[in-house]
Amino acid sequence: MSCRRGHEYARAAVREAIRSTLARSASIAAALRRSAARGVATAAAISVFCAPAYAETFARCVAELRTIATAKGITPLTFDTAMAAVESDGDVLKAADDQPEFTIPIWDYLAGLVDDERIADGRARLDKWSAVLTDAEQKFGVDRHVIVAVWGVESDYGRVLGKRALLRSLATLSCAGRRQAFFRGELLATLRIVQSGDIAPEALVGSWAGAFGQTQFMPSTYQRLAVDFDGDGRRDIVASVPDALGSSANYLRRAGWVTGQPWGYEVRLPTSYAGPSGRRARQTLAQWSDLGVRQIDGSALSGVGPAGLLVPAGAKGPAFLVFRNFDAIFAYNAAESYALAIAHLADRLRGGSAFQTPWPTDDPGLGRAERRELQQRLTERGFDIGTADGIIGAKTRAAISAFQTSIGVTPNGRAGQRVLRALQSPGDQR
Ligand code: CA
Repeated sequence: MSCRRGHEYARAAVREAIRSTLARSASIAAALRRSAARGVATAAAISVFCAPAYAETFARCVAELRTIATAKGITPLTFDTAMAAVESDGDVLKAADDQPEFTIPIWDYLAGLVDDERIADGRARLDKWSAVLTDAEQKFGVDRHVIVAVWGVESDYGRVLGKRALLRSLATLSCAGRRQAFFRGELLATLRIVQSGDIAPEALVGSWAGAFGQTQFMPSTYQRLAVDFDGDGRRDIVASVPDALGSSANYLRRAGWVTGQPWGYEVRLPTSYAGPSGRRARQTLAQWSDLGVRQIDGSALSGVGPAGLLVPAGAKGPAFLVFRNFDAIFAYNAAESYALAIAHLADRLRGGSAFQTPWPTDDPGLGRAERRELQQRLTERGFDIGTADGIIGAKTRAAISAFQTSIGVTPNGRAGQRVLRALQSPGDQR
């Protein structure tokens, strides 16, 4: 963010703090105080960050980082070369503090991650990298469909790696914000990559938080788990597909993957099921069976070991029994919806079908091709969505809301089937 925008943000936070002191209800005041404290802390960080003296503060911090890094085996030459032109990045601090504007429904999340394009792409890659995947299955014992599904969800098979320079993002977060100790560790891990020569510094780009490469590993994860799987002597998860696939497989194995076992499967619950659920509320298959849980085709439960029951949209939506291998996928990014996307994509790559139970909505989500069509149709009708890239950002959501208003629908900015159908209908042409 620019300094001017930073100061606007700071002023808004102060206004909110004042509002909190005026709030009469104790509970509202307490909630606002928490929110304001967070805002003021950020505002303070940004104000400091934007002050003319911040360049000096940052330079002092980098000098301190140099002392720490060189004490831990980074040579002065490596550090000075890598960090010479590194400046702090206000956008990264802002991103670190941003909360999601709203929760995306699970059916939208999965519709975007497991769509026809990603399934077709994944099958083509299973073909192309078949020999490497055979080696990975033999060495790490992890199912090839899951390895490729991780690749597809993490980086769209290497297409989307992130664009921010890791050294800059991690130096920024090492010197300001709430998790400096954590990010100092990640910066050190990045400097070790540079020093090893495994990946060129200019190729070390990624998300604002430092996830990078085709596997989107954090640098410390890279240090622990990346492997050289093409045998060229370098662990390069940015440029080498075999290294990326081998590294993901190694990650899953280390996270406890059990060879030959499924992650889980969709199940059928008895009508009005109100029993236990949750990934960690494990029970034996006999216990689940006693509660009336069956495979989706009505047959008896199968599998090895205790299982948890996932009901991501409540008992009326799709339900899944999940085993230990689901936890291994979960370990990759610590979100159940994310793990379910990988698990389901893996099943689809293997030739499995879509979930049998519909999501509890009358307005399902859109795949990326449909999202692009929605954006193109909005553009044709004069709504500004930026580029039709299939990514539903703030601009597209605003355009959807404007379109909804124009046809007399309560605006919510959500990209779903209903708004796409309205856009496809010539009767609604303005
Ligand atoms: Ca390699």
